[in-house]
Amino acid sequence: SLISALTLCLQSAPDSETTRRRRREDSRGEQGEQEEREEGEEGERGSDEGFKRMTPLLQAHHAMEKMEEFVHKVWEGRWRVMPHDVLPDWLQDNDYLLDGHRPPMPSFRACFKSIFRIHTETGNIWTHLLGCLFFLCLGLMYMFRPNMSFVAPVQEKVVIGMFFLGAILCLSFSWLFHTVYCHSEGVSKVFSKLDYSGIAFLIMGSFVPWLYYSFYCSPQPRFIYLLVVCVLGLAAITVSQCDFFATPEYRGVRAGVFVGLGLSGVVPTLHFTLSEGLIRATTIGQMGWLVLMATLYITGACLYAARIPERFFPGKCDIWFHSHQLFHILVVAGAFVHFHGVSNLQEFRYTAGGGCAADGTL
Ligand SMILES: [Zn+2]
Repeated sequence: SLISALTLCLQSAPDSETTRRRRREDSRGEQGEQEEREEGEEGERGSDEGFKRMTPLLQAHHAMEKMEEFVHKVWEGRWRVMPHDVLPDWLQDNDYLLDGHRPPMPSFRACFKSIFRIHTETGNIWTHLLGCLFFLCLGLMYMFRPNMSFVAPVQEKVVIGMFFLGAILCLSFSWLFHTVYCHSEGVSKVFSKLDYSGIAFLIMGSFVPWLYYSFYCSPQPRFIYLLVVCVLGLAAITVSQCDFFATPEYRGVRAGVFVGLGLSGVVPTLHFTLSEGLIRATTIGQMGWLVLMATLYITGACLYAARIPERFFPGKCDIWFHSHQLFHILVVAGAFVHFHGVSNLQEFRYTAGGGCAADGTL
């Protein structure tokens, strides 16, 4: 059977004193002291005798345990960053980042510990980890605002809460994905799908309070636009579940799908501008902030798709300022600009009061 073959293999393996010593040094780390090494030798000789007295099955089990322990030590403490060209295929995403990659580490503990080390994903993790905490605090502050500063406190808090939910989901899926990306092929696939779905959640969540306030007195178009963005968002989430969608060749398609989902907001914006006039659209409608938000997101998506700046300086942006990091920062900035626009809309509604004119404007 497999186990007896493994045991035979272990017994017959040549195990000279030097290779054994080297292996022990490896598992202990570089700062192993001489004294400790001698003590260890005694201990191992004793355990070797015990090892021979065990049944083959127990021996195999014991060997597996030792192996696991050793492997954990290597992953958790002693891994070094590695160049792009020696990475396994599933970890080779951006070939302009020449060095500084984490090796595959099938241990979640090791992945989470790597948050505090410097490698190609450090900036990606921290930009969205801090962004996530920021929106969590901002969201909680907003939810605890006194009810008297709203026209319909519960309804408005739920509506703005959808934006915070989308932002927090997007940012937390993102930093989690970047943290466990190097775990294994399966884990990286699952989390990359969550990461892409998170972007769709952020976009859908951003539409909710914006449509709610922009079409405050026109419930029918408001409902239709909301329905359309939900359908498009679910379509984007569905396509994110396909394995091909995460491959490097589809980088441009991915950027296009989410930019397209965001740009579907052009239709309600035009609707608002045509019915309210350009002046009201820019003042009450917060068009300026919306355009700034779109600019930030689209710039981020373009940098991401074209891999700027690292394509011009391969190997110079391995750790800091590569496209994905800039894209992450622009996403956080874009979401904050959107929040600012939405809170201006909310403030206008508060000053204008909850009533609607007979013709249905505003
Ligand atoms: Zn990312």
